[in-house]
Amino acid sequence: MTLADAQPAVRTGQCQCGAIRYQAAGEPDDPHLCSCEPCTRIGGGPAMLWVGFRGETLTWTGPGGEPAWYASWPTLLRAFCPRCGTQLASVAEDSPMVMVTAFSLTDQSGVAPVGHSYRADAAPWMTITLAPEPQPQQPR
Ligand SMILES: [Zn+2]
Ligand SMILES: [Zn+2]
Repeated sequence: MTLADAQPAVRTGQCQCGAIRYQAAGEPDDPHLCSCEPCTRIGGGPAMLWVGFRGETLTWTGPGGEPAWYASWPTLLRAFCPRCGTQLASVAEDSPMVMVTAFSLTDQSGVAPVGHSYRADAAPWMTITLAPEPQPQQPR
């Protein structure tokens, strides 16, 4: 056992309104994009970016306590803030890991996707990394 194992780095995260906060410890595992149908519909975008931590290291620390949970599949629960709707985490039955949404992390350093689940289902324009700047709007 190394010192790093004894005192793993702690990462924090939160929803948009701040009611639900969490912390998790250890090396971020398997950061990956997912473009499955629930991720795109629930997330409202072309993919969600997930990153894993050992489930036993995750604690809910915000004033709102525990998030709300939704089963998008009989064996998969997704956690979200019941106040602002931010997607925060997912837990698969029988998995020791909890996946958190990378963009809910306070510190996203070192977290970049190493893979893309449901890649074939992704919007074809996802090959464009950055869309152009929006055109200036007329003042209203
Ligand atoms: Zn919230
Ligand atoms: Zn997905």
